[in-house]
Amino acid sequence: MTHDIAVVGAGIAGASLAAAIGPRARVLLLEAEAQPGYHATGRSAAFWSETYGGPAIQPLTTASGAALAPYLQPLGSLHIGRAGDAPAIDTFLADFAGSGVALEPVDPAALVPGLRSDWTLGVLEPSCAYIDVARLHADALAAARRAGATLVTDAGLIGAQRADGRWRIDTAAGRFEVAVLVNAAGAWADAVATRAGARPLGIRAYRRTVAQLRTAPGAPPAMPMVADIAGRFYFKPEAGGRLWLSPHDETPTDPCDAAPEDLDVALAVDRFEHAVDWRVEAVERRWAGLRSFAPDRRPVYGFAPDAPGFFWCAGQGGFGIQTAPAAAALAAALLLGEGTPDGLDAELYAPGRFIA
Ligand SMILES: Cc1cc2nc3c(=O)[nH]c(=O)nc-3n(C[C@H](O)[C@H](O)[C@H](O)COP(=O)(O)OP(=O)(O)OC[C@H]3O[C@@H](n4cnc5c(N)ncnc54)[C@H](O)[C@@H]3O)c2cc1C
Repeated sequence: MTHDIAVVGAGIAGASLAAAIGPRARVLLLEAEAQPGYHATGRSAAFWSETYGGPAIQPLTTASGAALAPYLQPLGSLHIGRAGDAPAIDTFLADFAGSGVALEPVDPAALVPGLRSDWTLGVLEPSCAYIDVARLHADALAAARRAGATLVTDAGLIGAQRADGRWRIDTAAGRFEVAVLVNAAGAWADAVATRAGARPLGIRAYRRTVAQLRTAPGAPPAMPMVADIAGRFYFKPEAGGRLWLSPHDETPTDPCDAAPEDLDVALAVDRFEHAVDWRVEAVERRWAGLRSFAPDRRPVYGFAPDAPGFFWCAGQGGFGIQTAPAAAALAAALLLGEGTPDGLDAELYAPGRFIA
């Protein structure tokens, strides 16, 4: 079968984009693993927070809210700080003033039972929500298939050559030919660019750890997610009174099948015990995944200025799930030569910002 566009990587970025362009192009979705979602997409902390990632990411997150609504459940996020964090709280509030994101200064002790007394500062972000990531990703893959896209797993891209306006792509599952090659390879985005002869952009992978805790007392169901304004931890109530806790680690790593380190889990528990007086009874589960950032920590959507027919859809950092619908709409418009969706500034995310 002939295809127009090959999307490399079937995580949330590639799957969402394939679903968005599927009705208007013949799409081939190439995934290196046997299971799409095996890497970052299957390992997230699964929340939607309009402030997460900062003001340059917020328009993508907010614009994704309506499409994500069927996958969201109320959570709320409480950003907490100690006296010395007052300037960070002020900067946080100033960063989102006028953005439309509701942020309310609150007494954090009123929302978190057992919060240690030095955590006196709080800002509540009521719109923060749980995301059903597995269903979102499965629905994107299903929508892509319904629109005619072909998903090929165990099909890692090995190399790609361009001749006569077409890409000849060699993969572990055989050779394919398309006009446009989309790089949605997550932590491997720079490696895929290099294999296609495009200039890499300096997208680096960083390990992030999450542990599921059983605590005494258990997490109250109505408690919001709690995030240190200084970025040293967050924890989030889960089913059965469990907590998901992260030390907000960001260890530079080569692209790999990331695994949690004992030290990062211990650090997380130590920071947690300095935040609340709860006892940690068990670390029931732990995992790690890779968050991939361009040098300025903004994602990259658009055609590479240096490589005809090569399109970037990468650098989704810690916000690739919560921004997926708007990012896919933007990338689809750029790919198909349509107008930029309302409220988004394509220049902010253009690959040309790295290539003179
Ligand atoms: C611990 C953790 C917590 C997070 N929490 C959140 C959160 O709460 N909310 C949020 O929005 N985001 C969160 N994120 C970030 C989010 O998970 C990512 O931004 C998002 O999953 C990136 O999606 P992706 O499709 O770009 O990458 P991936 O899911 O990694 O997909 C890339 C795919 O490309 C494939 N690939 C690589 N090389 C090749 C090749 N040569 N050929 C073919 N295929 C290839 C890989 O196998 C992979 O399946 C978190 C991330 C981590 C690690």
